[in-house]
Amino acid sequence: MARQDAPEEPADGYGFETRMIHAGAQPESVTGARTMPIFQTTSYVFHDADHAASLFNLQTFGFIYSRLTNPTVAALEERVANLEGGRGATCCASGHAAQILSFFPYMEPGDEFVASTRLYGGSITQFGKTFKKFGWHVHFVDVDDPENVRRAITPKTKAVFCESLANPGGVISDIEALAEVAHDAGVPLIVDNTMATPFLCRPFEWGADLVVHSMTKFLGGHGNSVGGAVVDSGRFNWAQNGKFAGLSEPEPAYHGLRFVETFGDMAFTMHSHAVGLRDLGPALAPQNAFLLLTGIETLALRMERHCQNAQAVAEWLSDHSMVEWVSYAGLPGNPYKALQEKYLPKGAGSVFTFGVKGGYKAGARLVESCELFSHLANIGDVRSLILHPASTTHRQLTEGQRRAAGAGEEVIRLSIGLETVEDIIADLDQALAAARAR
Ligand SMILES: *Cc1c(COP(=O)(O)O)cnc(C)c1O
Repeated sequence: MARQDAPEEPADGYGFETRMIHAGAQPESVTGARTMPIFQTTSYVFHDADHAASLFNLQTFGFIYSRLTNPTVAALEERVANLEGGRGATCCASGHAAQILSFFPYMEPGDEFVASTRLYGGSITQFGKTFKKFGWHVHFVDVDDPENVRRAITPKTKAVFCESLANPGGVISDIEALAEVAHDAGVPLIVDNTMATPFLCRPFEWGADLVVHSMTKFLGGHGNSVGGAVVDSGRFNWAQNGKFAGLSEPEPAYHGLRFVETFGDMAFTMHSHAVGLRDLGPALAPQNAFLLLTGIETLALRMERHCQNAQAVAEWLSDHSMVEWVSYAGLPGNPYKALQEKYLPKGAGSVFTFGVKGGYKAGARLVESCELFSHLANIGDVRSLILHPASTTHRQLTEGQRRAAGAGEEVIRLSIGLETVEDIIADLDQALAAARAR
């Protein structure tokens, strides 16, 4: 949540690299501490009874309890909102919590949304299985043709969801076209920008309304903290058609306050704190917010090198005799190359897949033979990571869903780190030789 009492945003008008270091964090006013301190506190002393009452009524901005807001987390919220070009952000315990928060203010039991078939495996499970318990229903469609989305929209549809750069297949969504379809139906487009980060892609510039992040990945960048964020562009009109009553109609828990009327373009972000975090409870720990803030300070440098190393590895793999195909949007001839040039002109990211000859068994031998690569279920670390999705992240899905998500049996996912690129390639070379040896 943007701090209303903060001095004028010092980062306005500055370039991306300046904002990733300075946005949201001024020297601490009491001690002068230059880095954002970790406010390791659950609660905040009220000035008096009136002050307490006005905080609880949402009439005054300030801190009550760290399940709702915390100064270290607030600095991170302001920084992420700034880098995405959004109006406000809500940081929370994980990317999956951010996804719940991105639907929570307006979804009622029986409501629907349309999502891409090509999503992080955990998101497909969360949307398809767990959301059902809330009475929220997802229709998965191939968003490569935005008309598939239009056809899946019904009067109960409340949102459209895609990933800018999809995990794991190196697939890029046509954000501008999808935003148009969503807006024709009077609903927001939500874009998961985890894999691209705001350095490579800014979905709001193409019409998206909400951006979600797993900050666990490239934003934090060091594989040391789980965290999520939902960022609001502030531009979607939640009062346009009666579909978003949670935001436009009186909220009984706050004496009939209407979020849109009272908070304008901060309505979504205020609701996410005052109702979402308050009642669902996925608060981000201040310690993690500190680590994520520190990670973001080097985002541009890391993303440039991630992309450079990934491009070199993808090109090398394309010529390897053990490799069937490489799905990296930065390669010439890749079907998503044109979308990459439009939406991610600085690079195609560092996570991509390839098919190893010999299918499931060769894939398993390959991941076990790596020495420099870590065999684990994460992406976006400074370290190079390797995974066989069919046996891990996409294991809960049916074979058909796995294929649709780009995670078939022969598929290997790489997240290329920041090590010396010759060392990264040498490790894959020896592991591919070991996979062939049997
Ligand atoms: C990891 C990931 C998520 C889930 O985030 P967590 O922080 O693990 O909860 C969602 N979307 C994408 C694209 C991811 O990579």
